[in-house]
Amino acid sequence: MSQIVTADRDGIRILTLDNPPVNALSFALSAELLPLVRAAEDDANVRAVIFSGANGIFSGGADVNDFATEPTPETKTIRDVIAAIERGKKTYVAAIDGNALGGGLELSLACDYRIATTRSKVGLPEIKLGLLPGAGGTQRLPRLIGAQAAMQMMLKGESVAADEAKKRGVLDEVVEGNVVDAAFGLACRALEKEPKRRLSQRQAELGIPGLTANALPFVAAQAHKMVPPEDNGGFAAHKLIDAVEAAVELPFGRGIAREARLFDELVRSAPSAALRHVFFAERELGKIPGLPAAEPMKIERAGVVGGGLMGTGIAITFANAGIPVTVVEPSDEATERGKQMVFGMYMNQVQKGRMTQEEAWKRGQSVVYTDDYAELADCDVVIEAVFENMDVKKDVFKKLDGIVKPSAILATNTSTLDVDEMAAVTQRPEQFLGLHFFAPANIMQLLEIVRGKRTSPQTLATAIALGKTLRKKGVVSGNEFGFIGNRMLFDYSREAMALAEEGVPPYRIDAVMKDFGFAMGPFAMFDLSGLDVFWHIQQAKTEMKGRSNIVDRMYREKRIGQKSGKGFYRYEKGNREPIRDEEAEKILAEEAAAAGIAPREAGDDEIRKRLVYALVNVGADLLARGVALRPGDIDIVYVYGYGFPPHHGGPMWYADEVGVKSVYDDVLRFQKEFGDQWRPAPLLAEIAQSGGTFAAYTSKELVHA
Ligand code: NAD
Repeated sequence: MSQIVTADRDGIRILTLDNPPVNALSFALSAELLPLVRAAEDDANVRAVIFSGANGIFSGGADVNDFATEPTPETKTIRDVIAAIERGKKTYVAAIDGNALGGGLELSLACDYRIATTRSKVGLPEIKLGLLPGAGGTQRLPRLIGAQAAMQMMLKGESVAADEAKKRGVLDEVVEGNVVDAAFGLACRALEKEPKRRLSQRQAELGIPGLTANALPFVAAQAHKMVPPEDNGGFAAHKLIDAVEAAVELPFGRGIAREARLFDELVRSAPSAALRHVFFAERELGKIPGLPAAEPMKIERAGVVGGGLMGTGIAITFANAGIPVTVVEPSDEATERGKQMVFGMYMNQVQKGRMTQEEAWKRGQSVVYTDDYAELADCDVVIEAVFENMDVKKDVFKKLDGIVKPSAILATNTSTLDVDEMAAVTQRPEQFLGLHFFAPANIMQLLEIVRGKRTSPQTLATAIALGKTLRKKGVVSGNEFGFIGNRMLFDYSREAMALAEEGVPPYRIDAVMKDFGFAMGPFAMFDLSGLDVFWHIQQAKTEMKGRSNIVDRMYREKRIGQKSGKGFYRYEKGNREPIRDEEAEKILAEEAAAAGIAPREAGDDEIRKRLVYALVNVGADLLARGVALRPGDIDIVYVYGYGFPPHHGGPMWYADEVGVKSVYDDVLRFQKEFGDQWRPAPLLAEIAQSGGTFAAYTSKELVHA
C-alpha cells in the first residue's frame, strides 16, 4: 500500500506522508519517498516541493522497530531521502500540522522553510531512547538556532510548541488553519525571491552572547559535566555533545559523517537497547492475553474515600484528566490539608507558567470535599484510600456498596491487603478491583491494576482505559501480597537489611545502588517512606521480619526516617539530604550481635547482585504464577515505580543483559551461603538451563486463580 500521496498545484508538488498512525519514517516509507523526491527534481514543471502529513500529524519520526533491523545495501532510510533533498535544486517547504518529532523534524530541517500550525509541536527526542538524532539533526539544528540552544533542546529531548519554536527560530511561520495552503503561499513567495536556504550552507554559531566559536571547547567541557556519567545513564548525552561540537568545528559533510558514526555506536549499545525495550514494554501494557473482548465503561465522575496524602493525589490526577471528583473525608483537619494541597499544586502550575489562571481555577473547582458518602451516589468509579486496615476498609466498602449506583466500579488503593477479601463484603465483586497508585499519586506515573478472583473482563478493560485517560502506565497484576512492585521490594529490602546486619554500612549499600543508576538507595528509601510503615507491615506479616530486631528497635526509638529527623541516616532541619549516622550503625551492630549474626565483608559486586538478583528471582516467580503477565510489565513497574535505572531496562531485562545463566549461578551460590530465601525460582532455573532469555518468555493467558 502506498504511504505517500502525491498532488500537484501550479507547479508545486505536494508529497503527503500517510503511514498511520504517526507517519513513521520507516525503511519502507523511505524507499517510496526517495524516488518521488528524485522524480520531482527531474521534472522541469515542478518548481518547489511541499512535505506534509496525513493522520493529523506531520511525522512521529523513525520507526523504532527499524533500529533493531540490520540494514542491507538495498535498504533506504530517511537519511537517503534527506541526502537527495540536500543535493537537489528545488525549493523545499515542510508544512507541519501536528507533531514533527525526531526524523520528522530532521526532514523539515533539510527543507528551506518550515511552517506549522499553532497546535503543532516539534522536537528531537532521540535521547530518550539512548540515541541521538541521526539524520542530520545534530548538524542542522545548531546551524539554525545556535549550538547552545540546539544542544539544550536535544539533551532534554524537548517537544516545543509551535509559537515557542518560532521564537527560538526553529520555525519560519506559525499559522492557523490549513498549513498546506499557507506553505503553498510561502513557496510561491520564496520562488520569487531567493530560492534556497539550505542549512548546510551556514556556519554554526555558539549562540551565547559575547562568546565566539573559539569558546567551543570550554562550552562542550561544561556540557559534559552537566550530564550523568557515561556508564550511568549519560551514554547518549556525551555522544550528542560530541556531535554538536562537530557541527561547529567541522564542515557540514564531515559533521554528518561524524553524526552517523556516533549514531551507529549508540544504536548498537546496551543502554539504548534497554531504553527501547522500556518503550516497547509500555506499548504492550494494555494488551491482556486471553481477556475476552469487553467495551470499557465510560468514567465521567469519580469518587475518592479518604482525603489524606494518597486520596488527595488521586483526586488531583482525576481533575488533571478533566474528570470531576468528589472526596469523602471525615476529618476537618485532613480536609483542610487536602484542599491546601490541591490549591498549592495549581498555584504552583500557574506560577511556573504551565497553566493559565482560568484552567487552574477550573481544575481546582472540580475537586470537591465532603463528609457525606451520599454525594458519591452518581460516581462511575470510587477509589478507597483510607487507613491501611482491613476492618476500616471493609466498613467503607459495605457503606459504599449500598450508596453508589449499581453500575459503578469500586476500587481500593491498598498497598498490602487482600483485594478479594474486600470485594467479598460487597454485592458487586465483579465490579471490584485494586487501583494501586504510587506516592505522590499526581506525579508518579505507575498504576498497578489489581484483578481480583471475580473482577469481570469489563471492569478490567475499564480500569485499563481509565489508566490511559489518567496518563498512567497501568500494569495489570494478580492479587498477590504486595502485588508486583511491593512484593518484589520485600525481597530487595530483605537483602538490604541482611547486608546491613552483616556490617555493611547503609551509606555504602546506597552508594553502590546509586552507582548502578537507582535514583536512591534502599536505606534512603526506607527513611523517606518511613520505618513505621515497614514496622506495621511486619506486625501484620510476621514472615516479613528479618533475622534481627532492627526495625522494632528503630521504631521504638522513634528513628522512623525523615519524618522524625533520623532513621538509618540523620537529617538536618528542613533538609532531606541523608547524612551518615554512626549512631544508627551502632544500633545495627548491636542488634546484629544480639541475633548472632557475624560481621562479614561484602564487595560492591556482591551488594549489587544480592539486591538486583533478589528482584529477578522473585520476578521470575511472579511471572510463572501469572501474577505478572510479561517480563516487560515487571520492568515497567520497577522503572516507573521504584527508580530502577531505565538504561538497564528493568530487573528482568537486566537479567537478560547479564545472562540468565550467570544470574542463576549466583543465586545458587547465595542459596548455599545464605539460605533458602535464595532458592531459585523454577522459571529462572528453566530459562538458565535452556540458555534462554526472559525476553523470549511468552506470557500465559490471563487466568483467574
Ligand atoms: P493517610 O493517613 O494520609 O490518609 C487516610 C485518610 O483516610 C485520612 O485523612 C483519614 O481521615 C481518612 N479516613 C479514615 N477512615 C475513613 C473513613 N471511614 N471514611 C473516609 N475517610 C476515612 O494515608 P495515605 O498515605 O493516604 O494512605 C491511604 C491508603 O493508600 C492506604 O491503604 C495505603 O496503604 C495506601 N497507599 C499509600 C501509599 C503511600 O506511600 N502513602 C502508597 C500507595 C498506597
